[in-house]
Amino acid sequence: MNTNIETIKSGTVIINHQGKTKELPMDLVLWTGENHSIRWTKDLKFQHNQQGQLIGSPTLQLAGYPNVFVLGDLAEIRDIEGNRSPAKAQATFQQAPCAARNI
Ligand SMILES: Cc1cc2nc3c(=O)[nH]c(=O)nc-3n(C[C@H](O)[C@H](O)[C@H](O)COP(=O)(O)OP(=O)(O)OC[C@H]3O[C@@H](n4cnc5c(N)ncnc54)[C@H](O)[C@@H]3O)c2cc1C
Repeated sequence: MNTNIETIKSGTVIINHQGKTKELPMDLVLWTGENHSIRWTKDLKFQHNQQGQLIGSPTLQLAGYPNVFVLGDLAEIRDIEGNRSPAKAQATFQQAPCAARNI
């Protein structure tokens, strides 16, 4: 749905929907998704985002290291139009044969 939760504060959830920030009043928040970063990748000397995901190209090659392929939740992958691949099983399943073909 192209919506990210940016911040949860007392009585408020701040979301970002398609680049626009919106503050929603909230009495109760039940968080059922994963919320931890990928920690160990932050220690690697590769380019990564704030969540620790390694930056990969649309062809799934690690930024600056074209002989290394990254995919799945571990990687931030954007297509050639800049759309970010979601950290979902479906996306990972699609990336796997793509990586195999590209290798
Ligand atoms: C609560 C929850 C619900 C979800 N629901 C959905 C859903 O309904 N639909 C959907 O599409 N997606 C869902 N997802 C997301 C989906 O699980 C992930 O996008 C998908 O599993 C990513 O696959 P992956 O192979 O990249 O990573 P993972 O499935 O996490 O596999 C990574 C593997 O690497 C192993 N590993 C980690 N570090 C090391 C290391 N140093 N050495 C060796 N092995 C290592 C891990 O143990 C793990 O087995 C959900 C995720 C969560 C947390």
